[in-house]
Amino acid sequence: MANLPIVQFEEKIMEAVEQNPVVVVIGETGSGKSTQLSQMLHKRRYTKSGAVAVTQPRRVAAVSVSRRVAQELGVRLGDEVGYAIRFEDRTSERTFIKYLTDGVLLRESLANPELNQYSVIILDEAHERSLNTDILLGLMKRLIKRRVSNLKVLITSATLDGEKVSNFFSNCPVLTVPGKLYPVEILYSNERPKSYIESCLKTALDIHAREPEGDILIFMTGQDDIEKLVSKLEDKIRSLEEGSCMDAIILPLHGSLPPEMQVRVFSPPPPNCRRIIVSTNIAETSLTVDGVVYVIDSGYVKQRQYNPSTGMYSLDVVPISKVQANQRAGRAGRTRPGKCYRLYPSTVYTDEFLDVTIPEIQRSSLAGSVLYLKSLDLQDIDILKFDFLDPPSPESLEDALKQLYLIDAIDENGLITSIGRTMAELPLEPSLSRTLTEANEYGCLSQALTVAAMLSAETTLLPGRSKNTEKKRKQNHLDLPDGSGWGDHIQLLQIFECWHQTDYDIDWLKDNGLQVRGMMFVKDVRKQLCQIMQKIAKGPLDVQTSRRRRESQQDCYNLRKALCVGYANQLAERMVYHNGYRTLGFKPQVVQVHPSTVLKPDNEGKLPDYVLYHELIATSRPYLRTVCSIDIKWVMPIRNKFNNLNINKLSGGIGHVEESTDGKLSDSPKKALVTAGVPDDRD
Ligand code: ADP
Repeated sequence: MANLPIVQFEEKIMEAVEQNPVVVVIGETGSGKSTQLSQMLHKRRYTKSGAVAVTQPRRVAAVSVSRRVAQELGVRLGDEVGYAIRFEDRTSERTFIKYLTDGVLLRESLANPELNQYSVIILDEAHERSLNTDILLGLMKRLIKRRVSNLKVLITSATLDGEKVSNFFSNCPVLTVPGKLYPVEILYSNERPKSYIESCLKTALDIHAREPEGDILIFMTGQDDIEKLVSKLEDKIRSLEEGSCMDAIILPLHGSLPPEMQVRVFSPPPPNCRRIIVSTNIAETSLTVDGVVYVIDSGYVKQRQYNPSTGMYSLDVVPISKVQANQRAGRAGRTRPGKCYRLYPSTVYTDEFLDVTIPEIQRSSLAGSVLYLKSLDLQDIDILKFDFLDPPSPESLEDALKQLYLIDAIDENGLITSIGRTMAELPLEPSLSRTLTEANEYGCLSQALTVAAMLSAETTLLPGRSKNTEKKRKQNHLDLPDGSGWGDHIQLLQIFECWHQTDYDIDWLKDNGLQVRGMMFVKDVRKQLCQIMQKIAKGPLDVQTSRRRRESQQDCYNLRKALCVGYANQLAERMVYHNGYRTLGFKPQVVQVHPSTVLKPDNEGKLPDYVLYHELIATSRPYLRTVCSIDIKWVMPIRNKFNNLNINKLSGGIGHVEESTDGKLSDSPKKALVTAGVPDDRD
């Protein structure tokens, strides 16, 4: 890879690494940071005293880049070069270059806070400002001060504000690798199009018909739009008169694509053929696609935002930042001068786009991260004053503390409990890890493990993922036992149990419209979660999947009870005069249960008075997704806990919430909670 820009700077970078504990390397996307730095360090024998870890915010990047490096070094992936992402570890004792997601490195540091299995840690793609990378930045700062051995930290980025990071790390050196970018002509639309898909389609076809060879990269917001555009492009290209244009191959690119489809973008096109790659923002900086000369930029990105005051997630299509727009344009100028077609007017770029993307830490629920930090026992610092590059808002930190308190992970003084410690060891979101600890007490751990595994698999059959599966689920073609009327969690359990009865028959999955890859993943995740639980319990647990044809009512009852404890922050009550539910919390929200639910009304046509939900998400309206019916008597103790909550004590006296004089909840939310037992929708 001698022609990659970073190679010319090898001496300089290695000299800086030799002399400094922390070095920031800024280089254009595709300059070779992710694939080359680890190899340079190996060449200089840094791998003699420990492995080189390279973190990636995205799972696909960890897999794809490690595969490339293994290829370049001529070794088998999983041997000397490997990767570890949540629930998938392809490394061995011989691995000396390890690509891993930032979340996996955080987890490793729980088991080994000094991380002394590594001689060098590279935090790659730091410009993405993922929540986990931001936490790692703070942890690295502490580790550098404390670790006796000679740990080296490299922070690499395509666009990051180098000065800011350098200041954060006591003015460490910043090395810039000048990119070999060719000029890119920017072409703006006169107005925003009515339909992005149609506009992308037309622009791509125009380029294909008129412009000389060179691949086209189109930035869309998500998988659905990508699939629609790919199919339209395929139709149009097929209908072109033979010989009127060169051939074209259309390639989708997004995070949920199977790995063998993802790597297709790295193969060059056959002669006289143009590739049209339709991608999410994954191709902005995470994966470098060579050969692109034309970029079509929709100007939007899909972003998950969390509102700490309502506990509501929204998956919004939002305008990109200027930095992102420039990154997208830059993809066109890697091999020769290119063109970027921005499907928005220049005034939108100058006046409406933010300069930089908002870091994830400022738009996420922090419960998992705060629990993690608490479990590290950083005695010398208050968690709320942890050294963040950009601090999260006090509201979101307090929201995290309240969430953790309600599920018993911290006590009323904000100190981590033994339950909290166990939870922190599980690679799950707090609601699910708490459910597992409680299920263990109620003798339904096996069932809870299945539900946790089903909900952790991103690509299986969560409601709404596949319309077909949804239809089948709802029509109950799956021949599930009674009891699925309790809701989606129970049905997820039953689906897995039914599959288990068939001895994990692949044909059964296909016949029932379930995703084979997703379900195999669930099976594996379940096994791993069992092992972790057994390790924590220091002994065997009853985690056998039931061979019985039907789950007993008692099992379902216990499981729902355990789920209620885990989801204490995510409960809702039915409203009498209104067709919907109201969430229990500080700012109750009027919501609907998502139509994809399998929750069944009773004989009088009424839905249950109380439900727990996995997700509260605002799409066209606020919806509860993946819900389960619960009993009012389980809600009472949680309500009491709500009302006794004192944020001042929880946050160690630096509470931010506007308090009533006794330091408890302010008036109106308290009222809402007190009335929680009496469904009422008049206000
Ligand atoms: P950076 O980290 O600076 O963005 P990378 O090291 O990721 O750059 O990429 C350097 C080169 O390696 C690019 O030309 C890219 O296309 C190529 N590359 C990266 N991953 C793969 C892969 N899995 N297969 C083939 N080529 C790859």
